[in-house]
Amino acid sequence: ARPKVVVIGAGYGGAAAARYLRMWSNGGVDVTLVEPNASFVSCPLSNLVLGGSKQLGDLTLGYDALARRHGIRLVRDRARAIDAGKRIVRLASGGELAYDRLVLSPGVDFLFDSLPGLKLPGAQDTVLHAWKAGAQTVALRRQLEAMEDGGSFVMSIPPAPYRCPPGPYERACQVAHYFSRAKPKSKLVVLDGNEDVVSKGALFKRIWAERYKDLIDYRPSFRAVDVDAKTRTVISELGDEVQGKVLNVIPPQSAAAIAVQAGLANSNERWCEVDFLTFESTQEKNIHVLGDAIQTAPLMPKSAHMANQHAKICAAAIVDILAGRAPESKPMLTNTCYSYVSDKDVIHVTSVHAYDAGRKTLIAVPGAGGVSSAASELEGVYAGVWARNIWADTLL
Ligand code: FAD
Repeated sequence: ARPKVVVIGAGYGGAAAARYLRMWSNGGVDVTLVEPNASFVSCPLSNLVLGGSKQLGDLTLGYDALARRHGIRLVRDRARAIDAGKRIVRLASGGELAYDRLVLSPGVDFLFDSLPGLKLPGAQDTVLHAWKAGAQTVALRRQLEAMEDGGSFVMSIPPAPYRCPPGPYERACQVAHYFSRAKPKSKLVVLDGNEDVVSKGALFKRIWAERYKDLIDYRPSFRAVDVDAKTRTVISELGDEVQGKVLNVIPPQSAAAIAVQAGLANSNERWCEVDFLTFESTQEKNIHVLGDAIQTAPLMPKSAHMANQHAKICAAAIVDILAGRAPESKPMLTNTCYSYVSDKDVIHVTSVHAYDAGRKTLIAVPGAGGVSSAASELEGVYAGVWARNIWADTLL
């Protein structure tokens, strides 16, 4: 019988892993992909929905080509538990899937315990994170549209590490861009749980000063510890309170629940440590973890681009292992994160990461990356092409 691989989560990491497992094994491995959502909704570009230049439908893609063209078995369900001893995944609907190798790319979940006010009934209906693209993205856009001119939008950023280091700052640009066009008397207050802008800092701050001077009030080292949803107030560890008409609180994150429940989050009970040659968990044999859920190597962002690279290294390693070969010993990964600073102008950051056998981790190659010197429309074209390419590489 053909070896069986089960993949949990058809986001950027999981769908790409499933696709490459089928292609690189020439169909010699049975791949089952478990995902509760009917379609793929991209977080990259979702900040443009808040800015008003894209609709959620522009970022929503189907899964059918994975089944039709690649012979992947799609199971629309949620993985409820993993029995690593018996090598079985238990599904929410009650079924079970046996595996030889299991791949998890379940993304992140939110640590609401660190913001107790958000656990009160109804609080999460009005105070949105919109940090998983979908219904919340659209709802937050509606809140922005409903806000009267002169109101304030308060965004809270968690301390790093979190999903997509430049994402909150791109979002600030998108909201400010919308205000500059539609609500020029409004303000955007950015409460950053970090000491400074986490990614492309100098560039973002220069762009805010040049383009959105009177619109963005950036406050570093504001570590949110609570939220009062009724009065729409964010409270810092020092007791400072900031009130807004619309709140957008991005809570701290961990590996998604299924990974934590399976005992794979062995780094501070938050992230899953892996062997970077195979992305096999350091906790359980035959289980590989990808994407945002892992404890990343130094200077490695939690990004879609990275999840895609993890997926390829992992898929190649599993195909090699199942065929009795040793996996590649010198993997190399790249990353590019584009950020839209208006509806058209874009900046980027890139990096290259090489495996260091002595340190058993991936190290950012000095001098191999960089950031834009300025925002441009040409980079906007590149960013659109990046999205189309990675969607094709993941889903088609
Ligand atoms: P995901 O893509 O989130 O996929 C996880 C999947 O697992 C989901 O489909 C989920 O439904 C499923 N799942 C979870 N639990 C279970 C379970 N128990 N059973 C079955 N399925 C399950 N990255 C970039 O590279 N470039 C960008 O420009 C960029 N912009 C971003 C902007 C925003 C606003 C945000 C929030 C993120 C952005 N990112 C960007 C980051 C990127 O979205 C993530 O890094 C990427 O999605 C990680 O891939 P993943 O596979 O780990 O998780």
